[in-house]
Amino acid sequence: MSDAPKYQPLPPDLGEIYGPSAPRDPTRQIFVNRNLNMARIETVGFDMDYTLAPYHQHAMDALSIQMTVAKLIANKGYPQEIHEARLDHAFIIRGLAVDKETGNIFKMDTHRQVGRCYHGYQAVAPETRRELYAGTPIKLSSPRFAWVDTLFSLPEATLLAGIIEHWEGSGRTLPWSYRQLFDDIRESIDEAHRDNSMKAVITANVPTYIDRDPDLPPTLHKLRSAGKRVFLLTNSEWFYTDAVMRYLLDGALPFYKSWRNYFDYIVVSGRKPSFFIDTNPFIELDVNGNAIGEATTLERGKIYEGGNVRDFERMTGVAPDSVLYVGDHIYGDIVRSKKHSAWRTALIIQEMEDTLRLTHEHREGMRRVDALEEMAIRLDHDINYHLTLLKSLGRWADIPGGLTGPESRVIEAARERSKTELDVKRDLSRRTLDELEELESRIDRMFNPYWGRLFREGNERSLFGGQVGDYADVYTSRVSNFLSYSPVQYYRSPREVMPHERGY
Ligand SMILES: [Mg+2]
Repeated sequence: MSDAPKYQPLPPDLGEIYGPSAPRDPTRQIFVNRNLNMARIETVGFDMDYTLAPYHQHAMDALSIQMTVAKLIANKGYPQEIHEARLDHAFIIRGLAVDKETGNIFKMDTHRQVGRCYHGYQAVAPETRRELYAGTPIKLSSPRFAWVDTLFSLPEATLLAGIIEHWEGSGRTLPWSYRQLFDDIRESIDEAHRDNSMKAVITANVPTYIDRDPDLPPTLHKLRSAGKRVFLLTNSEWFYTDAVMRYLLDGALPFYKSWRNYFDYIVVSGRKPSFFIDTNPFIELDVNGNAIGEATTLERGKIYEGGNVRDFERMTGVAPDSVLYVGDHIYGDIVRSKKHSAWRTALIIQEMEDTLRLTHEHREGMRRVDALEEMAIRLDHDINYHLTLLKSLGRWADIPGGLTGPESRVIEAARERSKTELDVKRDLSRRTLDELEELESRIDRMFNPYWGRLFREGNERSLFGGQVGDYADVYTSRVSNFLSYSPVQYYRSPREVMPHERGY
């Protein structure tokens, strides 16, 4: 028996093997949580809003706020004065939670412990925060809390904070309970979406609100050319979907007459997450959006409304784990599809391009933070060592008549040395922690002056970051990032490292 290896071993220095390769733009990379072999993906589905259609966030926030304020005044009897509330657009990020009882807005870590917390635009003192929320993890399913988790719903946090700040900042009591204020804001925003007043403004001027990505049509074409079926599954209604998709795809590539030709199946008003959970039927629509009747098959070139994942799989004959669904809503698109189907998931996170650019700009500072953290841990060990040593030396010295003169002098000298060392280490530790705190909060403020980094809270992942890690197989900033990868790409996740596996 030969004990020669079954493979040709590689040279010890693996760096020799790959020559200089062109670095990919880091803001356009696809990141992998769980291995995904695109060669085995036969069908790729897309959400529309914030997925195929990236919105200009600032314009959308402004429109949404303007319509919500108008509805608060017209329908809920709010005073004109709410127009005067100062609204800070930096106070908007995904993954915040609202406490309807106190009016506070907070960010959680992945263990659902409350981190940064604001009342109006004022930071809540750590003692108050601990009194209110310390100990048990926050239950987001409780009616007390509301999770701000879609880019459509960001303005509600801004409005809540801005209105609280406007009243309480001038020493007055808010004329509504916090709960009522928040519920009124949310209802008004929902209504602006539901009654189509927002959509009417957007469809009348699509380029103001939606970003037409020239790389999107070739991305879809590349998937189709590789033999994959492509479908659209959106919660938007037909008239809005048609207007947005025309703007994104029509006239872009000569061999696609209409945006509809890019897709094998088109499903509008999909009612996700209900699509993944319930058994709503597929209804066929005509091109004017009128219902023709319940569908028993799904065909290319036709338009469907509603539906559910089981019927979709049955009618199209797809193997569930050969479907990749690309969406932007962590709950409706990703968590629900993961929990109720075998579909693989790609999450589009529009904020990633800014996050990655800032991470790159501040990488020196971030490395310094890592080094300081390592240093703080080592200094803690040293301090504990000297404390223990001093204690045991103290016991020797205290034995009455137990030590000779020379012995006690040796022990005394050892105590002195240890005390000096202890002082030095304590001083170093204090300076390390001061610099660490200062540097971390300086870097955090660069990302967002109120909330810091989207994916982190304190030393942990933020709740949003944790959910991205748990439920999205891959994640990236925009759909067209798939264009620079092969349609049979094997996306490999970095090896997961536990704390005990680090540092050897
Ligand atoms: Mg969406």
